[in-house]
Amino acid sequence: METVSSGSSRGYRKKRSPMLDTIAALIRRRRRFLVTTHVRPDGDAIGSALAAYHVLRGLNKEAVVYLQDKIPDIYAFLPGASVVVRRLGAVDTFDTVILLDCSDIRRVGDEADKVGSIGTVINIDHHLSNNGFAEYSLIDAGASSTGELLYRLIGELGVEITPDIAVNIYTAVVTDTGSFRYSSAGSAAFRLAAEMVDRGAEPHVVAERIYETAPRERIALLKSALNTLGFDYGGSVGSIVVTRAMLRKTKALSEHTEGLVDIVRSIEGVRVAVFYQEMEDGTVKVSLRSKGSTDVSRLAVRFGGGGHLNASACSIKGDVAEAKRQILDSIQALSIVAG
Ligand code: 5GP
Ligand code: MN
Repeated sequence: METVSSGSSRGYRKKRSPMLDTIAALIRRRRRFLVTTHVRPDGDAIGSALAAYHVLRGLNKEAVVYLQDKIPDIYAFLPGASVVVRRLGAVDTFDTVILLDCSDIRRVGDEADKVGSIGTVINIDHHLSNNGFAEYSLIDAGASSTGELLYRLIGELGVEITPDIAVNIYTAVVTDTGSFRYSSAGSAAFRLAAEMVDRGAEPHVVAERIYETAPRERIALLKSALNTLGFDYGGSVGSIVVTRAMLRKTKALSEHTEGLVDIVRSIEGVRVAVFYQEMEDGTVKVSLRSKGSTDVSRLAVRFGGGGHLNASACSIKGDVAEAKRQILDSIQALSIVAG
């Protein structure tokens, strides 16, 4: 049980599911960590990555947090946000990478191969679509968030939960449960949140930063996006679009699109909400949300993406009209909203 290294230099060659204590023991032995997460990082990705950073520092480890994309302004208040690097040099200085909230190594972005070449890859994730690519995996699709899984690991490591860790983990849980509204918000999420508050997280501060400081550019974008609101399949599928021209005109940033799709899902009769964003590289980013037992991860996986039952995403080559056609066709082909 002690020897858990496969000796492979390619971290994602072998699938294993070691126990929490195996991963904790491995972390205790290693010294130089890279911590990273997915492109277009959300609250769970950022909160988990920064919490992991503080945990590793608490264990006197070296730790670097790398993110391809800028941290959205609403998350810039999180303790540790300023240490994040967006350029990755040579990775031979690292002995271990902790990859958070990623169902696939490619989610890291352009540096995925480099990150995957680090001696040992530990993947901590709660996506239904996780393909078990890592050598060491802590995966539980039943967890509310990656932050919750990290919390379990912290318990195993016996690290004290400082206020810096608490606010990051609290943020991960709040954002990934839609402020405790989704089915992922079970008693474990509430208990964890209460403990994080005991440890120094302040819910009203987190809520204000994340949900009550929208820049006007975001609201301007919301206004033009709502003009594109449309329905298909008798109103069970709702969609909105953000084009590059709309971003230019409103001076909004890509990060200001977060949450727009949830407005579409909130409409009566809508089972599946789709958000199409025209990207710079000739693709359309498609965000999918659903209600109840309607599974949109099947849809995302069909296009090479992934996610959760009620929240998934993928990218489609072509323009918005083409992406729409393909998504609507697949919704029918897969009987996503039938019955
Ligand atoms: P969002 O629509 O908020 O970008 O993403 C919804 C969910 O799908 C999140 O859990 C996110 O991690 C996941 N996701 C987003 N884009 C991709 C993708 O390209 N591939 C995979 N596998 N998952 C994605
Ligand atoms: Mn997550």
